[in-house]
Amino acid sequence: MAVPDGTMRAWSVVAPGPVEAGGLRLVDKPVPVPGQDELLVRVRACGVCRTDLHVAEGDLPVHRPGVTPGHEVVGVVAAFGAAVRGFVAGDRVGVAWLRSTDGSCAYCVRGAENLCPASRYTGWDADGGYAAYTTVPAAFAHRLPAGLDDVTTAPLLCAGIIGYRALKRAALPPGGRLGLYGFGGSAHLCAQVALAEGARVHVLTRSAAARRLALELGAASARDVLQTPPEPLDSAILFAPAGELVPVALRALDRGGVLSVAGIHLTDIPPLRYVSELFYEKEVRSVTSNTRADAREFLALAARHGVRATTHTYPMARAAQALADLKAGRFDGAAVLVNDG
Ligand SMILES: [Zn+2]
Ligand SMILES: [Zn+2]
Repeated sequence: MAVPDGTMRAWSVVAPGPVEAGGLRLVDKPVPVPGQDELLVRVRACGVCRTDLHVAEGDLPVHRPGVTPGHEVVGVVAAFGAAVRGFVAGDRVGVAWLRSTDGSCAYCVRGAENLCPASRYTGWDADGGYAAYTTVPAAFAHRLPAGLDDVTTAPLLCAGIIGYRALKRAALPPGGRLGLYGFGGSAHLCAQVALAEGARVHVLTRSAAARRLALELGAASARDVLQTPPEPLDSAILFAPAGELVPVALRALDRGGVLSVAGIHLTDIPPLRYVSELFYEKEVRSVTSNTRADAREFLALAARHGVRATTHTYPMARAAQALADLKAGRFDGAAVLVNDG
């Protein structure tokens, strides 16, 4: 089918560095041509993830010079390669962080494709959704549940999926006590799933506005991050990229508790005290990306439980401002970039 030709406006990480310094620029790029097994997606909305900030500022190494960030894309299929089956023009799809894997390594074969050494990522290894169009391998595109609108669905595609994987990694028992350290885009989606599944949720965050949001969503308590939750925790998830909170969260765990560290980027963890922070079989687990199965499970749960992102929209042309606002903590919930028309 016909591929729209010509150029489009797209954001490009021209010079990785502080986002206020202007290294993320709005430029003209050719409309991408989908490969044999790829979809061309017209971007309607793209969520702003903290990882985009890490890509723009060079906290993550450059994988593709001049890359277009963005991996929480809701769009419609505009064209596709000759080998694609099962999609038609106009289908609504989501494009997420995990872009491709080799499908053949030991990790992929055992269902842990999130650990694939050959994995590639949207908005890091390949151009993402801070643009009018993007591409995605059809096998990694997500069909989106009906009834969820574009803007509130976009943050589900990374923040939501990662939060869900972090929740799985936290091994929360049914009806268990869950602590969430940090309460931004990912945590507020994770909290909704945990609450809908019967957990008692305690939120620990510096932001007074985030504490209010947590209580509105049904958290049992919301306190400052250095305070102790009102009861011992079966599981905790560290969403804040702050390694110094690892021992804080470990001390809040009950015996046998699990701490799941959700971030792709974390400051150094200070030395741990064995008896108060690790003994009694407490565990610390990292969370690395996600599998497509995680995404499918989460999107189904989100639709069933009415999980909604609290969003703040920006026109696509203001992406750099959205990242600066994210960095400065000027909003709670999730920013979403919206294309006109
Ligand atoms: Zn693999
Ligand atoms: Zn992300």
